[in-house]
This record gives sequence, C-alpha cells and structure tokens, in this order.
Amino acid sequence: MNKKYHIWTEGCQMNVADSQRVGSSLEHLGYTLTETIEEADVIVLNTCVVRQSAEDKAYGRVTSLAPLKKKNPNLVINLMGCMVGVRGAEKLREKLPFVDVFSPPSDPGPLISLLTQGEVHSLEDAETARRFLLMDDELILPVAEQGKLVSAHVPIVYGCSHACTFCIIPSKRGGERSRPVGDIVSEVRSLAKQGVKEITLLGQIVDRYGKDIPDGPNLAALLHVLHEVEGIERIRFLTSHPNYFEDDLIQAIADLPRVMPHIELPIQAGDDEVLVNMKRGYTQQQYRDLVAKIRERIPGCSIATDIIVGFPGETEEQFMETYRVLSDLKLDVAHLARYSLREGTVATRRMDDNVPEEDKLRRLHMLDDLQEGILAEINKRHLGEKVEVLFEDKVKGRWRGRTPTNKIVFVESDEDLRGKVIPVTVTWTGPWSMQAQLTKQPDLISL
Ligand code: SF4
Repeated sequence: MNKKYHIWTEGCQMNVADSQRVGSSLEHLGYTLTETIEEADVIVLNTCVVRQSAEDKAYGRVTSLAPLKKKNPNLVINLMGCMVGVRGAEKLREKLPFVDVFSPPSDPGPLISLLTQGEVHSLEDAETARRFLLMDDELILPVAEQGKLVSAHVPIVYGCSHACTFCIIPSKRGGERSRPVGDIVSEVRSLAKQGVKEITLLGQIVDRYGKDIPDGPNLAALLHVLHEVEGIERIRFLTSHPNYFEDDLIQAIADLPRVMPHIELPIQAGDDEVLVNMKRGYTQQQYRDLVAKIRERIPGCSIATDIIVGFPGETEEQFMETYRVLSDLKLDVAHLARYSLREGTVATRRMDDNVPEEDKLRRLHMLDDLQEGILAEINKRHLGEKVEVLFEDKVKGRWRGRTPTNKIVFVESDEDLRGKVIPVTVTWTGPWSMQAQLTKQPDLISL
C-alpha cells in the first residue's frame, strides 16, 4: 500500500529547505506527498519560534493532531524545528505524549531512523540518516517540485555562534556548523540536473561559512567553486553579518557574473548604544563605511537590511539615529519589526521591555513610510531600462521573476517562461514591484 506523508512548514528559508530534504527522504522510502492531513501516515510539523506568536501557532497546530492519533494509532507524528531545538525535547515529550518523534532543526535523522529501524536513535544515526539524505550524493527533489522548482535554497551553515541579545536562534539551532564543500557541490549539481536555475546559499551568518573548519574555505572560495557548476544561472546568499563581510567576498561578487549583486546585511538599529545592548559588534559608522565600500566596488548592487524598533531602553533620539541611517543610505529593502519579548533570550532575562507599544508602532510606521518613498525612487530609475529577469512562476496570469538585484518583475506572455532568463524592458514601477514587457519573443531566446 502506498503510504502518504504531509509536511507543515513555518518560518524561515532554512525551514523551507529542511522540509524539502525531509520530503525527499520520505519519498526515497516510498512515501508520496498528500496535502490532506487526514490521509497521511506520517505528519511532519516543521516549526518556528522566532516570536511568541509563532510558538503559540505551532503549539496549537501540534495539539490539534491528538484526535487524529487517537483515531489512527499507527499514524506517525514528527515535531521538528526550532520548537524542539538542539537541546532535545524532554519537556515537550511530557506535554505532547502523542507525538512519536522529536527532531532538532535541520535534522531528519530521528524520523528516518524510526521509519527504517523502528526506533529513534541518537545523533550518530542521524549522521547515517544525513548520508541517507544525500542518496549517492544526489538530492532528489520531492516529486511535487521536480521540473517546477526554478530557485532552491541550499543550507551551508547550520546554527549560529553569535549571541545577539534579542535572538532565540543560537539556543534553538546550536552553534555554527559549516557543511563540507563536497556535500554542497554535490547537492547543487543534483539540483541543476533537475532543472533548478538559481540557488540561494543559507546561513544565519552565511559570511562566516568555513570559519569553524580548520583551514576551511570561506564563502568567497565556495562561490568560486559553485560558479562553475553547469546549469546554475544565478547564485545568491543570505544572511550576512557586517563583521564578516570581507574584501574577498566583495571581490567575488564583483568578479563572478553568476553571483547576483544583492546583499542581505542586517543593521538592526542605528544607535551605537543600542547596538552594544543588542551585542551586534559594530557601530553605525562601520556599517555606513561597509555599505560605501560595497557600492564603490559593486556599482548598482542592491542591499537589504533588517531593523528592530523599540529595543529595550531605545529613546526617541536613539530611534532617530535609525531613521537617519535609512534616510541617508537609501537601501533597497528594509525588513522592519517591533521588538518583542522572547522567552530564552538574554534581552528578556536582563532588560526591561520599557518602550510603550504605541511608540514601537509609531516608529515602525515612520520607517515604513520612509522606506516606501525610498523604494519608489529607487525603482523609478529602472523605468525604460532593459533588465535580465529569471522567471519563476505565474501569479494571477502574469509571469513573476526577479532581476539580478532581486527586484520583483511581472510580465504578460502566453509563452512558458518558467526557468528562463529573459531581457525585458521596464514599463511601470512601484515601491514593491515593476511591470515589464519582453524585449524579444521568448522562442528567439536560446539559453
Ligand atoms: S547573528 Fe544574531 S540575530 Fe542572527 S541568528 Fe545569530 S544571534 Fe540571531
């Protein structure tokens, strides 16, 4: 009988990549994907707890499965991801006795060993399972994505050894562990064979790749290796940290045409005292200098950042430092968030969440409005310009793709543009996306 699996994924790109690998392993065991949770023989919940609201949602989701397990005792329920974390699940096991197996983030091992050996083994076997994942060094995409997936996420560093005071990730995903170059290259080769055109290398601090491997290659070296993988048209990476964005990485982006000139570089706040309290390890001026250096060496590149407003103790004047940085630097993207208490973080343990919610909201809106104006200006410069777009999918009848600088572009065409890199002419721009028309008919374009 053909057994079925269902995966529920919440959170970041790393979780999306992890779920893809779990799906790939289960299909290797002969399971097929079902979108109907009641039909599943194995249910995997890949959870995120970056904010309390995400943890509450995950808890609600897992407890909703208890009746299904009661009805079908053979059902296998796997709770995975940051809700479990690397420190195991003793507490969760007591609260969720109907869950069969608990898996740390990025580790399908416990589930695979339960399904293949009938019992959950420790990490060593997880190592065996990891080898199991890379079947003959090939990552076979889940059937549902084969031939459709244009852009794939490839984890290169798991965990994080930094200790930003607002962040739960190190305690959930553990210290940084870079993957062997060989594994990454094999995975990227197999993705290219399956029609993937773009890869995004993932790490909490991706520019620390290889720093935990003695004499290990760094990210710049890895980019040079992956640049030669046949079939991969575009390479992206996220998320970087200002302290590790070294000259050879900037040079690699400038020199390697398939490495896209788009950089995810969180600043988090503009005020130096707030940056110290966040334990970020750089100053506003150092961030400004880095952005200036990147723009000088890679003209036209785009830079995205992350900002937290209302961090404990943040005064109005300190917030205005953040406002001034964004206003001066005119970055291409700013992911904005309000500070929120997070059980298990240093900030929650040691700092008083004393910025009133209404002030947090007002500051967030101020940055939102500022950034929307900046984006409208930046995108307006592309009007009438020819840009190369890699098309990924169709949304409401229009093809959607991205430029090398990660701008979203929509095009109308009856042709199948999926996975094609095509020059288009920009005909309309807004803060969040652009509209364009094909510069030449697709069938005249050879890849
Ligand atoms: S660098 Fe800081 S914010 Fe990013 S994952 Fe590590 S601890 Fe969290």
